[in-house]
Amino acid sequence: MKKYFIIIVTLILAFSCNKEKQEVIKEEKSNEVNVYSHRHYDIDKEIFADFEKETGIKINLLKSDAKQLITKIQQEAENTPADILITVDAGNLWSAKKAGITESVSSQVLNDAIPANLRDPEGHWYGLTKRGRIVVYSKERVNKEELSTYEDLTDPKWKGKLLVRSSSNMYNQSLLASIIANHNSEVATKWAADLVANFAREPKGNDRDQVKAIAAGEGDIAIINTYYMGKLLNSDNPQEVEAGKSVGVFFPNQDDRGSHINISGAAFIKNSPNRANAIKLVEYLTTKKVQSKYAKGNHEYPINKDAEVSELLKSFGEFKEDTLSLENLGKNNKEAVMIFDRVSWK
Ligand code: FE
Repeated sequence: MKKYFIIIVTLILAFSCNKEKQEVIKEEKSNEVNVYSHRHYDIDKEIFADFEKETGIKINLLKSDAKQLITKIQQEAENTPADILITVDAGNLWSAKKAGITESVSSQVLNDAIPANLRDPEGHWYGLTKRGRIVVYSKERVNKEELSTYEDLTDPKWKGKLLVRSSSNMYNQSLLASIIANHNSEVATKWAADLVANFAREPKGNDRDQVKAIAAGEGDIAIINTYYMGKLLNSDNPQEVEAGKSVGVFFPNQDDRGSHINISGAAFIKNSPNRANAIKLVEYLTTKKVQSKYAKGNHEYPINKDAEVSELLKSFGEFKEDTLSLENLGKNNKEAVMIFDRVSWK
């Protein structure tokens, strides 16, 4: 009898110690959140510092390329410290889900702040900011009236005048993926081939370099993301400012589906050790206050329609957005890459 009593007391003690230990760990963890991010913008630092100050939750940030971060989380498996993965381009978020490293999270706050087409239908990832992939044109050499749609950029009138970066870039892959979704593969293949025929030069450089090439007279129109205009116009380099000023912003397809929209966004990681903090952070990032910061600091469009946009974004004017569900950008990515290969878009 005495023996049993000792065993029971030992078990109770062991259980209560263990429980205490668990609570300590839980408390420690609840003071931090681990973010793997592909975003490389200064404004993120400021926003994260504000979050830490306001909540007392520390953000541990690991920055790298989206593909590398996805592989890292896969390799870390159940031991991953990652709570959320932040990337640019919906195609990357879709890939993270496909890789099996994400998990569904339901949040009324996020569902209220973010339009349904800009988040995963199952709640694995949510958009944080929007960017349009639009057309800029030489104010000197192009009459705005000549521009209309993405489809029209294949017209022979633009032969030798169109500038765009390499097809290895995700933004271009997503644009083509949207054309596949809005038309079909055949139309998209012909579009890409005819666009290549209009190239002013072999694709090189980033979006900003295409604008600089217009300023240098190498071409007349370019396909770029909206926020790069903001970066040029606010650059410390006077030449970049001049390049930015030399072009006008045009939003294609205003009479039909609207301009192609992409996002940067956050995916919730399956083996996340700090899930509650992860949700708190992503919800924080979609608040009006933070959304305005993204607009003012990085010239991205707020995903939360109640947030104020910057003067610069206002100067571009309001425009109609393509409301295609962005999971299509991921679904059609492989096909888009194959098409680019077939039409020799370098
Ligand atoms: Fe970018």
